[in-house]
Parts: sequence; structure tokens; C-alpha cells
Amino acid sequence: MRLLQLLRPTLLTFLRFSMVNILIIYTGGTIGMVNDPKTGALIPFNFKQIQQNVPELERLNYNLDVHSFDPILDSSNMTPAIWAELASLIQLKYDEFDGFVILHGSDTMAFTASALSFMLENLSKPVVLTGSQLPIGEIRTDAKENLITALEIAATKNNGKAMIPEVCIYFDYQLFRGNRAIKYNAEKFEAFRSPNYNILAEAGVTLSFFSNYILPQPEKELAVHINLNPNIGVLKLYPGISSQAVRAITHSPVDAIIMETFGSGNTTTAEWFLTCLQEAIAGGKVIVDITQCLRGAVEMGMYQTSKKLQQMGVVCGFDMTFEATTTKLMYLMGQKIGKEEVARLMEVSLRGELTA
Ligand code: ASP
Repeated sequence: MRLLQLLRPTLLTFLRFSMVNILIIYTGGTIGMVNDPKTGALIPFNFKQIQQNVPELERLNYNLDVHSFDPILDSSNMTPAIWAELASLIQLKYDEFDGFVILHGSDTMAFTASALSFMLENLSKPVVLTGSQLPIGEIRTDAKENLITALEIAATKNNGKAMIPEVCIYFDYQLFRGNRAIKYNAEKFEAFRSPNYNILAEAGVTLSFFSNYILPQPEKELAVHINLNPNIGVLKLYPGISSQAVRAITHSPVDAIIMETFGSGNTTTAEWFLTCLQEAIAGGKVIVDITQCLRGAVEMGMYQTSKKLQQMGVVCGFDMTFEATTTKLMYLMGQKIGKEEVARLMEVSLRGELTA
């Protein structure tokens, strides 16, 4: 009996250490919002609101810690500076926790997930973003399931190592690679899709992981990159676009342009248009060609219309989402590498964001 008493603190310490440690990072979003009594609009509320509504958190067999952002955000106000804060926080807490769950508004969740995937190089632990379409206090809320399963995913191990060494999004029973996901629906619980890549896991009666699609454990140590250059212009094409509209982007002081083209990467072959692109490239801008189609990839040179783009040095964005392209450009342009290297790496899969 006495021995047991003596052993008790050691046993408790052992249990504590052998339990999975998860850090919940609360940035804001609908999940924690309440109705403003004055205006009736949804406004962010503090984390207590979430804890009170999910008593099940107490029953999970994990050590949970919470870091709440101040101020709490509607994710439409997300910025690269806050991504840097998130990445630095994960770096600071990396050894202490087995996994991270980020509560985030769904509006820009795919941008944050993509940005973090590039900022956290050689990630060996899960960073799972989740949120909800209905606030956690609503009876029909999707928040509880999203939060509890995101925690389970963040806690899952395989041979002692994290099952998902990736930045990902969990929403409505599906786990997506973060830099492959897009917000697809503003109304349904199925808010996200991954149009060009298989889901990583699915939650039914059991959690099924599709290991063939999950990134391998890295061989190197975590490297965190917080310098981002967001000076990017977007040129979405449509039949009849004017030279003024095109020049407003190609001749603006941005460092890179994402060009959203037709089908497999095609544009008009009008002389004035190609000249605008040529002048922009000669002026030092990187131009990346991604398709307006939801599925499929840019295949430069497949048609005469894109062959010319290839010849003048337009970069092929393959099947990257707009969110992945934007944040990858921000990340690469924030590194101390030249424009040629940025262009080269845009065509290489760095974190599983493209199929070349
Ligand atoms: N406007 C909210 C946000 O992104 C929407 C949501 O959370 O789903 O913060």
C-alpha cells in the first residue's frame, strides 16, 4: 500500500507523459461566434463559449491545452502576418505537443492551410484546421463533430509516429490535404472539397486513413519560414477582356501574376495580349498559369494557344488551386532566391500541392 502511495506521483507523471498532448489554437470563425445583440450579425466570441458547449472534451483521453488569439478573428481578416504568428507558435510549442488543431473560419481556411504547409517544412506532426458552418451554441451545429474528430486525427499515431505529418483540413467527415482544398460551398456542411487529390481520411463508424495519399515522415528537422511576399496580382481571363484591364495588372508594380486561364491553360493569342505578358516577364515578374476549371490541370503546349506562353517563360501551375498558388508564390518570393528559382520551384511539388 505504502509502495503504491510512493509510486503514485511517478505513475501519474508517467501517465501524463504517455498521454497524447494536443494544442488547440483558437483563431476565431463561425465555430465560436454568437449573435451581436445590437446588430444581429455574427461576431467572434472567446474560447469559453466553445468549452461550455462541448463537455465531451473533458472525456477525451488527451492532455488538451488552448492558445486563444487576441483579437479573435472572422477569417476574412486573416493576413500573412497572422500566418507568421501561427507558424512561430507551432515552432515554439513543437516539442511539447504531439499535434495541433487550429480552429479557424472556413472562409479563408484553405489559404491558411496552404500557407502553413509551405511555411512548416519537414513537418512530422499533424496540424489540423477545422471550424464549422453553424456556431457551436446552435442545436444543429456541425462544430462538435468537426472539433472532436479533428482532435482524434491529431492524436492518431502509427508505429509511435504521427499518422498525418501534414497540414490538413477536417470538415464534414473528410480530411483533406490543406494545400489541395478549396472552400466549395457557403451553405452546406460539406464546405470543402479537394478537386484534384484524394482525401486523406474519412470518418465513419471508424476513422479510415488512406495511407497511399499521406505524405511520408520527413527525414530532416522542422524548418519554419515566416517571411512571405504577398505582392501578387491576379489576372482572370474572359472573352473580350480589354487591353486596359490586362495592362492594369501586367504593368502594375506587383512581383508576380497568377493568370487564371481557360481549359488546359489557354489564352487569347491576340498580339497585344502576348506583348503585355512578354513585357511583364521582361520587367521581372513571374507569371503562373492556372486553370479556371475546378478539375484537371494546365498542360502547356497542348494547344498552340498555350505553346506561345510556354515559349515566353510563363510558368505552368499544373493542377494547383488558387489558394496553393498564391501562398506558394508568397513563400517562394519571401525566400532569398532569384526570380528564376522561384519560377522553377513553382513547377515542382514541394508539399504535395501539385501533380506534374
Ligand atoms: N466568416 C466566417 C469566417 O470565415 C465563416 C466561417 O467561419 O465559416 O470566419
